[in-house]
Amino acid sequence: MNAAGRFAPSPSGELHAGNLRTAILAWLFARSTGRKFLLRVEDLDRARAGAEAVQLRDLRAIGVSWDGEVVRQTARGPLYAEAISRLEAAGLTYECFCTRREIQEAPSAPHAPQGAYPGTCRNLDAAELEFRRSTRPAAIRLRAGVAGYTVHDVLHGEFTGIVDDFVLRRNDGVTAYNLAVVVDDAEQGIDQVVRGDDLLPSTPRQAYLASLLNIPSPEYAHVPLVVNDDGARLAKRDGAVTLADLAAAGTSAAAVRDRLLQSLNLRAGTLENALPGFDPAALPRGPWVWSSGGASSRR
Ligand code: GLU
Repeated sequence: MNAAGRFAPSPSGELHAGNLRTAILAWLFARSTGRKFLLRVEDLDRARAGAEAVQLRDLRAIGVSWDGEVVRQTARGPLYAEAISRLEAAGLTYECFCTRREIQEAPSAPHAPQGAYPGTCRNLDAAELEFRRSTRPAAIRLRAGVAGYTVHDVLHGEFTGIVDDFVLRRNDGVTAYNLAVVVDDAEQGIDQVVRGDDLLPSTPRQAYLASLLNIPSPEYAHVPLVVNDDGARLAKRDGAVTLADLAAAGTSAAAVRDRLLQSLNLRAGTLENALPGFDPAALPRGPWVWSSGGASSRR
């Protein structure tokens, strides 16, 4: 199988400068290591009509190209179901009937890290299970055998994070992100995952799940986020942060691309031209401030 990297946007709206910078980085990581570069639309949840087309158009406009067809998660239900069946057959899942509120209000298990599922439904007896099944549809959770797991990240080194009995399939039948991402990366031959470092905390869960499914973990590179003047993660409300808004303010897609490349200490111009100068070890490690001055024209 060919090695590949990828960009996997959720089509919940337009990409902003932070998303575009991550896409450029994912492209540079993949291309600089001779990998293919794939595009996967993570539309299981939060998909907005028309958003995908705009995202793909904007990626092309800044020079991010990909190999083969775009893959959409909503077309891959059978793959996710098959993985969950394998885990079920191995006794590694259970049904959970908890509401969000019940989870928040449940006393946490001794020594359980904060934010971990307290295990309320882990050991329901047959009578309890039967009763609960009559009350509401079940989510499927992983019966995790560890409380934490360590991954290696190109930029962060060793990172250990919580693994709890996380959800694999929600009670509305939608496959959970943590399961889908693991199954998709493996099935698509993706062995390099470059994404925003806000996703680092969920990576140990994914790597642990991959180990249970006998899938080798990909190489991870969690890249710094773009933040606003106040240091908060960039968002639409931060003014002109999408290509459309920036174009309306007189900034071309090529100028945005150049500004993003320069923020990475790379040469302005095409991504291909920036490639020879790309060195992960030399990347800026902190968040980059998208100033409301500069190319954007806020207020
Ligand atoms: N779809 C996720 C997002 O847009 C990214 C997931 C990933 O790269 O693994 O935040």
